Amino acid sequence: MIGLLGGMSWESSIEYERIINSEVRARLGGTHSADLLVRSYDFARIEQLQERGYWQAAEDLLAADARMLADAGAGCIVLCTNTMHRLAGAIERVVDVPLLHIADATADAALAAGVRTVGLLGTRYTMEQDFYRGRLQDRGLSVVVPEEPDRTTVHDVIYGELVRGVVDPASRSRYVDIVRRLIERGADGVIAGCTEIELLIGPADVTVPFFPTTRLHALAAVDFALRPQS
Ligand code: GLU
Repeated sequence: MIGLLGGMSWESSIEYERIINSEVRARLGGTHSADLLVRSYDFARIEQLQERGYWQAAEDLLAADARMLADAGAGCIVLCTNTMHRLAGAIERVVDVPLLHIADATADAALAAGVRTVGLLGTRYTMEQDFYRGRLQDRGLSVVVPEEPDRTTVHDVIYGELVRGVVDPASRSRYVDIVRRLIERGADGVIAGCTEIELLIGPADVTVPFFPTTRLHALAAVDFALRPQS
């Protein structure tokens, strides 16, 4: 049973559910689907905690709910957002089942593709703070993030549009231009390091390998849930 901490935002957590269920059907056939426990937040509450810098309150909330999922039988925890992996350590401390880290699934894919320098798109928290970049760097990847004003554009499109269900072709063009500038600065792969970004751009929009974190993370969860048992 996979425990999903979602709703951050639900626009991407329903993609997690869709990908995980489709993959389980593809692998097991018949009428099989995924065994899931879902805790989905009101995203306005999450956004407010982030904006005000109330990370301790966010940590308390997510850790308690991860514990609830584990107590209810989840065999792993999937935190359906890149940004809130800032709190991964706190969750790992309170549950005795694995937290499947989104940056690990992403790094695995980038390294398997032979990429050395990744361009990282995400929220300002993910692009600027060490919890995510550092985890990629620990795996031997170099990381480039957009410079200003591009960084603000990437962040604002996430909170102003994508988490609200708005997918605007004008924003897609802006993202494509931003990715081009990352490639000019040395990126030989691009991480959609926010779970809503792959709703806006995909592999066809970029000229280097593209790493969609929602998809990669969801597939890692299926790999874990269906791993051969000894
Ligand atoms: N889903 C986004 C992410 O992957 C941003 C929303 C959030 O702040 O959690 O980072």
